[in-house]
This record gives sequence, C-alpha cells and structure tokens, in this order.
Amino acid sequence: MTKRNALLISASAVAVAVALIVPSLAVRTIAAVAVVAIALALVIRAYRNSHLASPAEDTSNSQDNSQADSFAFSKLFEATMSGMREGLLVVDKDMRVVASNPAAHKLFNLSRGNLTEQRLTELTRNPAIYGAFLDALKGIERSGVKVQTHGQDRLIFDLRVVPIGGDGVASRNAAKGALGVFVDVTRLERLEQVRQEFLSNVSHELRTPLTAILAFVETLEGGAIEDQEAARRFLPIIRKNASRMHDLIDDILELSAIEAGNVPVTAQSLALHPIVNDVVSSLTSKAEAGEVTVTNYVAEDARVYADARRLEQMLTNLIDNAIKFNRKGGTVSVKYEPSRDGRRDRIMVEDTGEGIPAQHLERLFERFYRVDRARSREKGGTGLGLAIVKHLALLHGGEINVKSEVGKGSAFTVELPRP
Ligand code: ADP
Repeated sequence: MTKRNALLISASAVAVAVALIVPSLAVRTIAAVAVVAIALALVIRAYRNSHLASPAEDTSNSQDNSQADSFAFSKLFEATMSGMREGLLVVDKDMRVVASNPAAHKLFNLSRGNLTEQRLTELTRNPAIYGAFLDALKGIERSGVKVQTHGQDRLIFDLRVVPIGGDGVASRNAAKGALGVFVDVTRLERLEQVRQEFLSNVSHELRTPLTAILAFVETLEGGAIEDQEAARRFLPIIRKNASRMHDLIDDILELSAIEAGNVPVTAQSLALHPIVNDVVSSLTSKAEAGEVTVTNYVAEDARVYADARRLEQMLTNLIDNAIKFNRKGGTVSVKYEPSRDGRRDRIMVEDTGEGIPAQHLERLFERFYRVDRARSREKGGTGLGLAIVKHLALLHGGEINVKSEVGKGSAFTVELPRP
C-alpha cells in the first residue's frame, strides 16, 4: 500500500467514525461526502494506474501492492456505503446510477432491487431531485434541497449534490458525474413543526387576555374611571384576565421544566387517602360554587409509590377538571385499586359531567388541546393541565388513560408502577 493511499484510507476511517458518532447532520453530511470523495478519488487513481502503467513497471511486487490496496479500499468503501444512514447516489453524465448504498435503496423503494444502471428518471419523478443532479452535472453544487417521500411514512430528506469532474471529485469543470447525499431530517422537521405550533398557540393564548386588559384600561382612561360603578365592574375583569396570563405562564414554565427533565421525581411509599383529602379541601370552594359533590373513596390503608408534590399536582388538575366540566348537582369520585397483576397502583377520578366525544380522546393530552376552546377559557383553563398530568405520570414510569361517554361523564385513571 502506498503511503498516500494509506493516508487516504486512514482519513476515510476517521470520517466514517465521525459520521457514525457525531449527531450533527451538517458534520455527518460533510463526513459522508468526504469519504465518498476519497473513495472515488482512489477508484479513479487505481483505474488510471491500471491503464497507464508501462510493462517495465508491471512487476509482481507492485501487483501485490495494488491488489492489497484495492482489497482494503473496497472493504472500507463497502462498509462505509452500507453502514451509513444517509442515502448515497452517484450518477454518470447520462444520469445513470453508477453507485448507491442500501439507505438509498430504501429511499427509492427496495422492491425495485438493484439501482445500478437505472436512469434517475426511472427511480424518481421528483423534479427537486432531478433538478439538483442536473445542476451538479453542469458543475453547480446544490445543497439544502428538501425532498419528501409520499409513501405510508412521509419522510423528509435534505439533499446535497456535488459534481464529480474528470480531474477528481467535486470539480466544477466538465462534470462527469454527480454525487448526491440524502440526509433524513424527518424528526428534525417534526420537532420544528411542534415548536412553531407551540409558539403560535402561546402567542394566541396570551393575546386574548391582554387585548381584554388593554380595552378595559383604555375605557377607564377615556373617562370611565370617573364612573365609580363602571370602574368597580371593570377592575375584577382586568384582574381575572391578568391572573389568566399569570396561570398560563406558570403552566408553560412548569411544562417546559418537566419536558426538559428539570423536575426531580423522588418516588416513595405514600398514604393516598390523606393526600386526596388535602386536594379535595383545597378545591372545596370551587366545588361548592359549581354545586358538585366530591367524595374520597380511597381506602385509608391504600399506599402508592410516588413523589408527594407531583402526585398532588396530578390529582389537583384532574379533580379541578372533573368539577369544572361537571353539571349542577353532579358528583366526582376519587377511587383506588391495585392492578390485577399487582404491579401497578391505579388512581381513578370519575365524574358525572358532560363527557368527551370519542373523536377528541386521542388528542386530549396534547398541549393546548381542548374540546371546546371558548368554554375552557370561560372556566379559566390554560389548556395545559392534562399535558402536565401526562408528563408527570410518564416521569413516574406510569401513564394516564381516559374513558368517557357524552352526557354521562368521564373517568381518568393514573397508573403508577410499584417498585
Ligand atoms: P383546561 O385548562 O382547558 O382544563 P386541560 O388540559 O386540563 O385544559 O384539559 C383539556 C380539555 O380536556 C379541556 O378543555 C376539556 O375540553 C377536556 N376535559 C378535561 N377534563 C375533562 C372532564 N373531566 N370532563 C370533560 N372534559 C374534560
């Protein structure tokens, strides 16, 4: 093996390691392109050498060396191509596939078998992919091309295509082929979408009470402050809207702390009955205002394994909802039972309220999801209560479920594992 080839192969090995270890998509893409570039450079060199070598130089020693080189190289090349999560596709100047890896096969649907020798147009009709390869053949490097698949799982790829010139890889002159790297960015795109939805929800939720506060303050400034009766009527409305904003910000901070893993959950064996009693007492005035009776049916000796503060928080959110979405004269029952296999404890909060239509149940624990937005707001809800309960249950290694029947009521069950 020549010193230069050894260096190139070592560089490739380092780049493969980088591509497999580093999570950054940009670094992985660059490493992938570097490996394929080195690999192609070696192929081109080996090809040239085999054509240019004079008979005098063609000694058995150099033959052995070049065989060892190409063996080492082909093994490395094969391992790189098949080990990469990024799809790699190399086309010649006629847009025929001359090299591809298993990730690219998957991308272009495995059932088509070997991609080699197929024209790019036979593989895909996606104009974004075709256009990027066409530009690369004209010597123009393209990156950041968004490609979406339309199968059952919609995947999103970031495509980068570089020209391969006659005098090496990534040359801008007289491209003889093009190399495309497809990086799967589906998860990143989904996270970005969730982030944007969250931001727009938060802005929307904050704007409504803020608009009301501004409107009442302007009315007061416009002279209503002299009218004692009007001023006395407006102030509680301003306070109600300001405290709604306050609750919302509290819930957002709480939820992001839980999601970021900054909320420590120290589970220990707890007596459930007194905790339920405390929560019910703290909600007495709400229950009385709604003419709802809340009963603690938990056995006095029932114990669960949880973080006391977080368990209280979950129960408060669930019992508060059961009161809020109840009817006059309705009831809320808090119950306990161990699971059949004895591995989990179940805490149930059941109400005789309005119930939840089946089509909403699946999304009920998402942030800001409400069955009736206006009604939730009118009752001072932030739309984050159930999302917080769900995350807290998950932090305990448990889960939350709901069953509901419209007109009859709902039953929320928190399941917590035993140690
Ligand atoms: P909110 O602040 O609106 O109460 P939650 O996340 O606690 O937000 O609840 C989300 C939505 O789920 C509520 O707006 C309501 O539509 C529905 N919901 C929650 N609990 C109940 C319940 N016990 N009965 C009927 N609907 C409920």
